[in-house]
Amino acid sequence: MDLKDLYRDVIIDHNRQPRNFGRLEGADAHAEGFNPLCGDRLELFLALDGERLKDLKFEGKGCAISVASASLMTEALKGKTRTEARRYFDEIHALLTQPGHVPTLELGKLAALSGVREFPVRVKCASLCWHTLNAALDQQGAPVSTE
Ligand code: ZN
Repeated sequence: MDLKDLYRDVIIDHNRQPRNFGRLEGADAHAEGFNPLCGDRLELFLALDGERLKDLKFEGKGCAISVASASLMTEALKGKTRTEARRYFDEIHALLTQPGHVPTLELGKLAALSGVREFPVRVKCASLCWHTLNAALDQQGAPVSTE
């Protein structure tokens, strides 16, 4: 099995069985995201403990890549600090848009998102949850759109 197959399997797995799917009661922060290019919608809920992201959950409907990306993100960021979450945002943005980008963080399964780079039209599907995360951390009330 080569790396591409492995990445595809991770995306398929997280789309079929999204982790941390559902509403988070009593969330400390919340944001909605919409990608009109594909029709992906998601709502992200955060439970914060000071600087730390104690819990993350998401709900929504979207294509396989948008769901898998949100699932991978919530799994990877649970227990991380706000500062670390922002660093992951920057890292994933670079991973999705810069060919040959060499990660500076331990990405684990998030590395599977690098496969999306080959499909520029899907980059916004993969980045939607990350923009929504930024909005939730900023506590912006307005829904975000990738447009
Ligand atoms: Zn999509």
